[in-house]
Amino acid sequence: MRIVILGGGPGGYEAALVAAEQGADVTVVSREGLGGNTVLWDCVPSKALVVSAEAMGWMSMAYRLGMRWPTGGEIAGRAAVDMGAVMDRIQHLAGNQSNDIGKKVARAGARIIEGTGRLAGPHAVVIEGRDGTSAVLPADFVIVATGSRPRTLPFSKPDAVRVFTSRELFNLHEVPERLIVIGSGATGAEYAHAFARLGSEVHLISSRDQILPSEDPDAAAVIEDSFERWGMTIHRRRRAVGLERGAHGVRVRVGEDEWVEGTHALWCIGQVPVSANLGLEAGGVELAVNGSIPVDAVSRTNVHTIYAAGDVTGRIMLASVAAMQGRNAVWHALGGAVSPLRWDAVAYCIFTDPEVATVGMTAAEALTPQLPVQSVTQPFTGNSRAKMVESTDGFVKVHAMEGSGTVLGGAVVAAHASDLIAPLSLAVHNRLTVSQLAQAFTIYPSMSGSVSEAARLLVGRFASAT
Ligand SMILES: Cc1cc2nc3c(=O)[nH]c(=O)nc-3n(C[C@H](O)[C@H](O)[C@H](O)COP(=O)(O)OP(=O)(O)OC[C@H]3O[C@@H](n4cnc5c(N)ncnc54)[C@H](O)[C@@H]3O)c2cc1C
Repeated sequence: MRIVILGGGPGGYEAALVAAEQGADVTVVSREGLGGNTVLWDCVPSKALVVSAEAMGWMSMAYRLGMRWPTGGEIAGRAAVDMGAVMDRIQHLAGNQSNDIGKKVARAGARIIEGTGRLAGPHAVVIEGRDGTSAVLPADFVIVATGSRPRTLPFSKPDAVRVFTSRELFNLHEVPERLIVIGSGATGAEYAHAFARLGSEVHLISSRDQILPSEDPDAAAVIEDSFERWGMTIHRRRRAVGLERGAHGVRVRVGEDEWVEGTHALWCIGQVPVSANLGLEAGGVELAVNGSIPVDAVSRTNVHTIYAAGDVTGRIMLASVAAMQGRNAVWHALGGAVSPLRWDAVAYCIFTDPEVATVGMTAAEALTPQLPVQSVTQPFTGNSRAKMVESTDGFVKVHAMEGSGTVLGGAVVAAHASDLIAPLSLAVHNRLTVSQLAQAFTIYPSMSGSVSEAARLLVGRFASAT
């Protein structure tokens, strides 16, 4: 079976690994190094930047833990950020990760072609190689995994000097003095957090009252509080409608005659699927109005030989979802048994401080009056481990079905919530009950003890209701 994959991000390379393991003849056509935007521009670089930024947080905590500079005074007060070193580390790390993935995919037996591909019908792909060569590859199945790019507005085109999107950001070699972050979703919140810790005066423009507008309001409130404690200014209910660039800075218009002034502006207003010039019409593939490729739960487009995976499908834009869609596409194409993707069990995390991790049912869904759902919130203020590590901001929230006690969703707001969400994710995916969650051992003292404690509270509540 010949499978050609367009794009080497997690949607593409995870598909390639599975296809090669199953003995298919696989080719990945990738415009840049393997890992795609995830590894080279988005997740890996942004999370590596957050790690550098958080070192500042650890240093300010060090004083409270009793650490002193030999000559006296706070450690944090002496620290300066070498942005060039921060960026070099990030680029090195991303490059290494991309090479590791490339080697793994090649070792699995897949062919990697550096270049740009497009469909030449339902059974063929045209490749323009980086070396200027061109070729047509026949395929029994094609998987389109070309990802997304940052959304820009006509007046917000990035110049990589004063105006940025996540794509140009790693050209920065100094900490921006006064950074305007436009957009308070996950990406905007993560970068606002990182640059505030690195020493920028950050102005975060949020079109809503609440930052992280699609998140649990209790979680968003914890993050707003943390941002403001770190000196950030949140401009609520403001929409960026213009931008002016000058020799020394930028200003963003947020009202009739209202401007926010800064030295740099960073646009974080969403991602757009990359589906232009892919020959989709030649392959007969239908597109949605927003340019995404609609697929079913096993990643099939309307053409039975063409699958799509990842951000280009316009669903939940996450590396983990892209990877799962890519694997599903291969399993289905090769005739294997595939469980349809569980959209009700997707877990994700926003890497602020504290982190906000969520799985399954949201807080808003849990409040739907006709649903027999009970929710419980367990704050970290009483958790002994949280007290030791000075990390008591945040909570564990669990939503479960009345009667059966099935865990439907939850959230963890804490340092390392990206890891602490795992037991809840496992419970949601396997439809475990709060009683099963509560009976599993956890470590004492540990942050994850609060996950069990939240489950125990619900067990008690359900028991007293019967
Ligand atoms: C700043 C930021 C931070 C993020 N952080 C996280 C995170 O922490 N966790 C998380 O799960 N998700 C995160 N995401 C989302 C995540 O990056 C995406 O969901 C993920 O990259 C999607 O993977 P993909 O396989 O669809 O495509 P991508 O990773 O976008 O890769 C697609 C690849 O295809 C290539 N390509 C495009 N057209 C062609 C063509 N015609 N021929 C050949 N190659 C082509 C592209 O150049 C690219 O290399 C973040 C996104 C952003 C913007």
